[in-house]
Amino acid sequence: ATPTALLAGTGRGAQLGIVIRGPEALERAKTIDTVVMDKTGTLTKGEMAVQHVVVAPATDGRKDVGTDAVLRRVATLEAGSEHPIAEAIVAFAEQAGVEPEAADDFQIIPGLGVRATVAGQASLAGNAALMEREELVVPAELVAAAHSAADEGATVVFVAWQAAVRGLVTVSDEIADTSQRAIELFHRMGLRTVMLTGDNERAARHIAAQVGIDEVHAQVLPQQKLEVVTRLQSGDAGQGVPGLEGGSDGSGRQASGQQGRQEHRVAMIGDGVNDAAALAGADLGISMGSGTDAAIAASDLTLMRHDLVLAVDAIRLARATLGTIR
Ligand code: ADP
Ligand code: MG
Repeated sequence: ATPTALLAGTGRGAQLGIVIRGPEALERAKTIDTVVMDKTGTLTKGEMAVQHVVVAPATDGRKDVGTDAVLRRVATLEAGSEHPIAEAIVAFAEQAGVEPEAADDFQIIPGLGVRATVAGQASLAGNAALMEREELVVPAELVAAAHSAADEGATVVFVAWQAAVRGLVTVSDEIADTSQRAIELFHRMGLRTVMLTGDNERAARHIAAQVGIDEVHAQVLPQQKLEVVTRLQSGDAGQGVPGLEGGSDGSGRQASGQQGRQEHRVAMIGDGVNDAAALAGADLGISMGSGTDAAIAASDLTLMRHDLVLAVDAIRLARATLGTIR
């Protein structure tokens, strides 16, 4: 394509609401065959809200702590985090008139949750993987509550203190209006669609089914998102979870001697700090304009409205501008 055509393409993108960083971005968009998408804040609106607070039942010799105590503790812990889940929980507790407790030694555990000392007690809030890592047994009633919430697409936050899981909070988000439409259009264009999320597999599968994505990589830690993208590029990422059984160091791929050989051209769409490395490592990084600065800086294209159909438009525009009908 001529420089003039590329310039015109970039201008057309701007009109549509797509910020295109340079002509190379269009060149890259042309050859994409796989589109990987983050869940929260990309496929969903990223406006999380608390749905339920559940307390672990009494066990012999111990009363349950009550839902107020569960909410107070989880809100106290989450005050130390800036995650959208944390913001939803803190706002909910505030509205319920729940005062936070005295706490210190806050520690963020990326992709898992948050830890602090609250009222002198070692306390944790986070997902099932975090409870497992800490060797905390989740009571059967909470497991059941967690499964049914996750099957509806909710994210589950367990709260534990003094070495016992005391309750959980479920948080959910709405699917963005045009996500399903965008997936349908990607498929019509012959593109393979993949969800890549740090959330649990049940919630991920529910949302994936709603929008029509059939390949899911769930419970992927922030530092593993890039690895999944790299594996999708090389064609050895397998079919969804569990796709990380080989560990997180990527050494299997290096050893296979396939470096430089790429089976697939992968676009990544995301909004979070956690997505930045994957956005930069993908053949085409697409950020949501509502996303974090880190995600926007790491991407080739930015969508100025929360509308994944703009990503479809971007690839169409690249194909049209560069004269390729696939
Ligand atoms: P993503 O943006 O892909 O959902 P993250 O890596 O930010 O992924 O988070 C992955 C999962 O880690 C969340 O779905 C949640 O279960 C857990 N998590 C992360 N941060 C927190 C937090 N502050 N409180 C509770 N759970 C958290
Ligand atoms: Mg996100």
